[in-house]
This record gives sequence, C-alpha cells and structure tokens, in this order.
Amino acid sequence: MGGRDTELVLLDENGIRCDGRKVDEPRRIMIKAGGLKNADGSAYIEFGDNKILVGVFGPRDVHPKHMSNTDTGILRVRYHMEPFSVTERKNPAPSRREIEISKVIKEALEPAIMLDKFPRTAVDVYIEVLQADGGTRCAALSAASVALADAGIPMRDMVAACAAGKAADTIILDVNNEEDQAGQADMPIGYMPSTDKITLLQLDGVLTPEEFKKCVETGIKGCKIVYELQKKALTEKYFANGDSK
Ligand code: UDP
Repeated sequence: MGGRDTELVLLDENGIRCDGRKVDEPRRIMIKAGGLKNADGSAYIEFGDNKILVGVFGPRDVHPKHMSNTDTGILRVRYHMEPFSVTERKNPAPSRREIEISKVIKEALEPAIMLDKFPRTAVDVYIEVLQADGGTRCAALSAASVALADAGIPMRDMVAACAAGKAADTIILDVNNEEDQAGQADMPIGYMPSTDKITLLQLDGVLTPEEFKKCVETGIKGCKIVYELQKKALTEKYFANGDSK
C-alpha cells in the first residue's frame, strides 16, 4: 500500500529487514500443546507478536442432526479476532475477513484429517486471536494442527504454515505486518511435510513466474521450520522427560 508519512525501509543496504531479520529468517516461534482443560485438545502459539489460542472439541454429535453426514465426519472452524488484538479496535461481529480465514483454514486442514473414521460427528476448531501482527492465518493453522493432534484426532500429518512474500524487490520469508502493508506480495502457505502436499496457498500481490516459484520454495522452508516446532510441542507435552520414543 505504501504512502506513509515516515519512510519505512523494508530492506536496508546490508539486507536487513525492518524488524532486524535476514531475508530468510522467520520470526521467533513458540508453540505449546494443551492448556485448556475443558477442550479435547488445545494449543497456543506465539509467532513474532501474534498470540493465538486454539481449542478443539470432538468428534461429537452434530446439532441440528441434518447437518451431519452419514458417510463422514465434518470439520468446522471458527477463526475469531479479539477486538483488542489489533491497534485499531476491531468490531466484535464476524467480519468478511474472519469468515474467509475460517474457510481457508478448514479447507487446509481437511486433507490432513481422517474424517471418514468418525461418520455422523463433527470436530470443532475454535481459534482465538489474542494479538495480531501479520500472518495470523498461518500461525492459527499451525496451532490448529497441534490442537487436533492433542485431541487425538486421527491425522495423516500435521499442516505446518508460514508465509513468504516480496518486499523491496526481494523474496522474503515470514512476512510481518509492515511488510504485508507496504510490501509487494504476501503468500501464505500450508504444507504437509510427510506427503509433500500444499493445502493452503493464497497470493496477495503480483509475482513473475520465477518469483512465484521462489516464493513457494521459500514458504515451504518456513513450513518445515514450523513443523519441527509443532512436533517439539507435542513431544514436550506427552514425553515430559524429553524421550519421544
Ligand atoms: N489487521 C488489523 N485489523 C483487522 C484485520 C487485520 O489490524 O481488522 C492486521 C493484523 O495485524 C493482521 C494483518 O492486518 O495480522 C494482516 O491481515 P491479513 O488479512 O493479511 O491476514 P493475516 O496476515 O493475519 O493472515
């Protein structure tokens, strides 16, 4: 978007970004499995200044019953931003953006979950964004995967997510809020490492075919970093002595 009063330097002459990172460096990531005692599974993620809590409920009965499917389970996802999660207070009513993000996260998780194993039931994923700083859909998707695993939902793999993008004519890993606003492209990616499948890919901006390829490769590198931290979070909860065998 640009057009700021004070000039924001997205990339300085030493290749350092506005928040001090290198082009291929993600923000600080911390993932914790569990934490909500009333949920069947839960997770908390800090991804830079994003802070997101996820609760998973189910598989459980579907009400009203006609919403259920006799052949398979259904997945329902609600992404919600707290009014205090952003600088300018967000209206608590569901926005078009929240509806869109709920939909893309649901569609990104579906290939990972063995929904056919629990017909007539629903798995509900509640995502609460406590603090947002660019890249909440990726952070939320990564945390939701951990919360689903924590709930014991049968899965083919976890979906790890990270964005890549373009700022100052350079492909960068893990786009922050300033880079999202003033940069040239933002590409959130959700990826299942064990099957090498992309389950989320969006693009806001314009890229050449070469840049597009580099952006996907860069994003997948970020997803692999996130994946290791997702596994670490589960290992820490279920093998407190650090023994994952
Ligand atoms: N944002 C905001 N107010 C809103 C919605 C979003 O300030 O009502 C900020 C928030 O920091 C968010 C960022 O804009 O992370 C980028 O939003 P986008 O729609 O690109 O989704 P995200 O990058 O969070 O997945």
